[in-house]
Amino acid sequence: MPVSLKKIRFLIASGPTQEPLDPVRFLTNRSTGVMGRALAKAAQRRGHRVSWVECPTQARTALELQAQLKKLLPQSDVLIMAAAVCDVRPERVSAVKLKKEALSSIQLVKNPDILVSLSKKKKKGQLFMGFALESKKMIENGLAKLKEKGLGILLVQKVASGSDPFGERPVEAVLLDREGRVERLGLIGKDKVAWLLVRRAEKLFSKKSF
Ligand code: C5P
Repeated sequence: MPVSLKKIRFLIASGPTQEPLDPVRFLTNRSTGVMGRALAKAAQRRGHRVSWVECPTQARTALELQAQLKKLLPQSDVLIMAAAVCDVRPERVSAVKLKKEALSSIQLVKNPDILVSLSKKKKKGQLFMGFALESKKMIENGLAKLKEKGLGILLVQKVASGSDPFGERPVEAVLLDREGRVERLGLIGKDKVAWLLVRRAEKLFSKKSF
């Protein structure tokens, strides 16, 4: 790390949450955790401190992830929320394996928005970064999410036929910031995205402009 670079405490959440229905079934999504791992690697390479909560191994459900992040947030400067949180969970988790007939009438309830809840506890000098997947209106929807979730930076990735944001492949991405700046990154590899976000955090911290 260059002598003049301030060491940043990153808190990174990554991977897909899981919402169990019973002891053998769960709801989840296609996230692979590649972006989160790239972010942790980039931040460590730059000499920063990284706390990392990987889903579903360290936090399985959205509620577990929310509780862990709430605990770790006070000791962090930058939260990077790259976890793919399930939007809903079964209202009740059955302790025994459900019969097939019961599966067509599972009641779902909404999970809390973790970023929205944590942004209410955000202290001055803390920076939140988030990710979004959008099929349409990437910029318009992204700017609305940035505001709603209290983010300094949001990376919007395109989901469309021929533009799959999961796994190792490059993604079509746009970087948005709180000042309304829009940076079209085109097709870009996840390692490069991770590097860019870590460098962006360093720039903001050196200027304290957030
Ligand atoms: O609203 P949407 O799911 O598109 O927002 C994506 C961003 O919000 C991601 O950074 C994700 O980790 C975060 N998120 C969250 N809590 C949820 C759903 C998403 O913090 N329940």
